[in-house]
Amino acid sequence: MPRLVFLLLITIASSSFAFDSVVIDAGHGGHDRGGIPGQRACEKILALDVAQRLNAALRADGIKTVMTRNDDTFIPLPQRVAIANAQRDALFISIHFNSAIRKGADGTETYYFNRKAAPVAARVQSQLTQVNGHENRGVKRRAYYVLRKTRVPAVLAECAFLTNPQEAARCALPTHRQNLANALARAVKASM
Ligand SMILES: [Zn+2]
Repeated sequence: MPRLVFLLLITIASSSFAFDSVVIDAGHGGHDRGGIPGQRACEKILALDVAQRLNAALRADGIKTVMTRNDDTFIPLPQRVAIANAQRDALFISIHFNSAIRKGADGTETYYFNRKAAPVAARVQSQLTQVNGHENRGVKRRAYYVLRKTRVPAVLAECAFLTNPQEAARCALPTHRQNLANALARAVKASM
């Protein structure tokens, strides 16, 4: 095989993967509210709501899903990873909302660690940014626990800043959370 073709095949093989199920991880839960102290909009509740909406959207399309939590329970990170690693060909998607001391901070960011998940992270980021219509903070590679320890490719979306008054007000609307879930569903389906 010519060297160039070989390198090309390696590149294609390492930048994509097949999955037939999705592990949906709503960040935080129980005593862990998420966000920063004194934050009014509650991250754990909004993350669960978007996760449940994403779950419904994917199931409506016949896609197999597993949720790491489906109520307001605290699930330790190793348990979330174990749920993901019990799946063979899955994508792990963790749903969070961002926070900052500076009220003006806004926008969407998406993280991945396993390079196979980079294209999915890019789609998630692009779809969420279109729905939010605000600052695109970009796709970033970070060794967060759930991204590093999951055997299946994983992405983590920080949908918006709940410490930003405009973004928090929008996220309080069920229609906006449905739009966020639909955006995530589109990114997942485009990656399958
Ligand atoms: Zn979070």
